[in-house]
Amino acid sequence: MSDLVAPRGASRLRERNREDLLHLLRTRGPLSRAEMARALAVSPTTASSLVAELVAAGLVTEADSADRPPRRGRPAQVVRLTTAPGYLAGVDVGRTHARVAVTDRDQQVLAERNVHLPVGHDREATTALVLDVLDELLTGLGAGRGDLTALGIGLPGPLESATELIGVGAILPEWVGFDVAGVLRAELGVPVGIDNDANLGMLAEARHGAARGASHAIYIKVSTGLGAGMLLGGELHRGAGGSAGELGHTPLDLDGMVCRCGSRGCLETVASVRAVLAMLRPTLGADLTLEDVLRLAADGNRACERAIEDVGRGIGRGVAVLANILDPEVVLIGGPLAAAGEPLLDAVRESVRRTCIPSVSSRVRVERSALGDRAEVLGAVAVAADVASTAGLDGGARSTTR
Ligand SMILES: [Zn+2]
Repeated sequence: MSDLVAPRGASRLRERNREDLLHLLRTRGPLSRAEMARALAVSPTTASSLVAELVAAGLVTEADSADRPPRRGRPAQVVRLTTAPGYLAGVDVGRTHARVAVTDRDQQVLAERNVHLPVGHDREATTALVLDVLDELLTGLGAGRGDLTALGIGLPGPLESATELIGVGAILPEWVGFDVAGVLRAELGVPVGIDNDANLGMLAEARHGAARGASHAIYIKVSTGLGAGMLLGGELHRGAGGSAGELGHTPLDLDGMVCRCGSRGCLETVASVRAVLAMLRPTLGADLTLEDVLRLAADGNRACERAIEDVGRGIGRGVAVLANILDPEVVLIGGPLAAAGEPLLDAVRESVRRTCIPSVSSRVRVERSALGDRAEVLGAVAVAADVASTAGLDGGARSTTR
């Protein structure tokens, strides 16, 4: 009778191996059969037969040898997920910048540009500028809009999943209610995905950065405001409406400063770039910038060092609240203030150690984002890859990032 059980068990194992292989290619990009066999701990013969099944199902493709340098004279053979040919684009719009990247279908960056923008930049003008930059980057690659497969865009602020509109409380108040994804979709005629910047940072770190291999992780973007992207069980957690992770508006001090959201004493009034500058401008001048603060702190200016430590402790209190609830493996500190480096991270760690329950604080790692100021645009590219793949599966009707 056991001969009836064995094939069923073997078939389940094979199914799981197929899923693991697809997941591997999705997270690590194209791989040789030997690399796949090693990563899945199966024999080369099993890996080859899994690949053959997935090729027959149209889910993976054997790549042309030109994509990788030949080894010892023999062309390298790699296997990749089947995606539409063409380019992916990622766009990251912030309070004072727009970054655009064009990648190949494996999310390798081919061209990228960062443009500085004035505070309060006009939403229509910035959208037009993004399209111009995208056109220039594509032209530089000898391509055009017709070669684009999909685009992902990130904005700082809560995004309502159902409408794709940026919500109240955003860093870009001028963009509230603006359907930038719809405009780009109409202009480009390709699937467009949109998400908030902290979620994109988390996605990029999980796929290409310091959270690779983690199932539970938090990405904290310390910028003008304070946002969190959360990876739970290997999936980005966006919440019911898309507003999950608005850590900056956690009430901390009922008698504290009035926040830009209208509440009083929100965490980001003491834990953000805005908070650093508010602390130092009365003594160091009204035109003090974050770059000045980072330079002065590196030169040993005690006021700047103190401001960074104080804000680090504030960030740590917010991290502790989230970590106690989510029990992550790693917390990554990203955004422009992360450039302050170890003094900031040490203050965050100290605060986490003091305020987290010991079973969490003894294990959780607090580290700096590995992708720096490119995390968000690389996350936007990952979203573009996801919408391209979803569009391929359901005939192009879907456009959201889920
Ligand atoms: Zn607030």
